[in-house]
Amino acid sequence: MKKQFTFVAAALLLGVTAQANTGSAFYGDPPDATHPWAIHDWNRPQPPRVEPLPYDAEKAKPPAGAVVLCDGTEATLAKWECDKPEGGATKWIIKDGAFQCVPKSGYVRTKEKFGDCQLHVEWSAPTPPQGESQGRGNSGIFLMGAVECQVLDNYDNETYADGFACSIYGIRPPLANALRKPGEWQQIDITFRRPVYEGGKLTHPGFMTVYCNGVLVQNKTQLEGTGGHRARAKPGPYPDVGPLKLQDHGNPVRFRNIWYVALPARTAADDEGISGPLPEEATAAQRKELAAQVRAAAAQLGDKPLDQMLRLAESLIYVADDATAKDVCARFCAYVAGLQQLPKAKLNDKKDDVKRVRSAFDYLIKFKCFTPDCPARADLEKIVKAQGWDKEKKK
Ligand code: MG
Repeated sequence: MKKQFTFVAAALLLGVTAQANTGSAFYGDPPDATHPWAIHDWNRPQPPRVEPLPYDAEKAKPPAGAVVLCDGTEATLAKWECDKPEGGATKWIIKDGAFQCVPKSGYVRTKEKFGDCQLHVEWSAPTPPQGESQGRGNSGIFLMGAVECQVLDNYDNETYADGFACSIYGIRPPLANALRKPGEWQQIDITFRRPVYEGGKLTHPGFMTVYCNGVLVQNKTQLEGTGGHRARAKPGPYPDVGPLKLQDHGNPVRFRNIWYVALPARTAADDEGISGPLPEEATAAQRKELAAQVRAAAAQLGDKPLDQMLRLAESLIYVADDATAKDVCARFCAYVAGLQQLPKAKLNDKKDDVKRVRSAFDYLIKFKCFTPDCPARADLEKIVKAQGWDKEKKK
């Protein structure tokens, strides 16, 4: 109780300080049952100042497989268009090796659409700085055209915390203010995972992780819909892909070195933020998928019956399946019957195969993935013994 009182008192004190600067109450949507702050709430603490790392040209380079969206040359300008229904050439310009916003010309968007990605963006605020709060060096990086990683000159400029540079605008302030001075280049690295809805139901929450000049400022922040100005984000259907948009907020912000790498589809482990055990339901689903993949691979091995049998047997470690187990037992019996027909000299040529088969079935039986009652196992053992191969095993 005391702790809660202290927290409230501290928040009020902070609020008084911040309100004195510029904030207006009764602006964004109010607090609710799961959000203690209003949208654009000046009582929300300002991100603490953290010194950025020095500019790292090596880390800024697009890695292999990256799609370069802007390298500061006219050539990449063709990858962008005006953010209007009809598209068309943007009025933003290339100047001194940077892609520069022309105020009042409108947002720009990439012609290409993409979803989950690792994105690198560099931006630089106008200098000398002009304006206050949201009016100073404002632009925005809109992932899939929907959710904004805020671009704002907050080097020496307070604003509401959920609209700070590197905030997920209207959703979450950055953990820190690691900005360089206006006019210098800010390096922003984003990992973006869109929310996935299937049949209207959320199956994978969306996340964003953001580094500002090498400092972690969003740590796998869960997305709540698209976010937005004054309105609380509401979860809801999300497109599969969308363009990257840059905002025209009336300031000539500059951009350069924009590239992305598409990320592979997510697993349950990505959503849980773990690399260890998965939830049981997700594990069962993945095992079922793996078993189906292995059986499909087995189906392609019609001309190699031994390999086909072992592949089918392999599928049993993922999912117990009576029909497959019976099929494998029948194949195993046929394989051993074939061995029994061979003269001793020819049988010797099969030694390596036999050992491989025995080892595979011993594994399956040990881990209870296959019945020890399949008669082929005992018959195979008889062959091994008769050939003296079991003695070799003990060496
Ligand atoms: Mg903005």
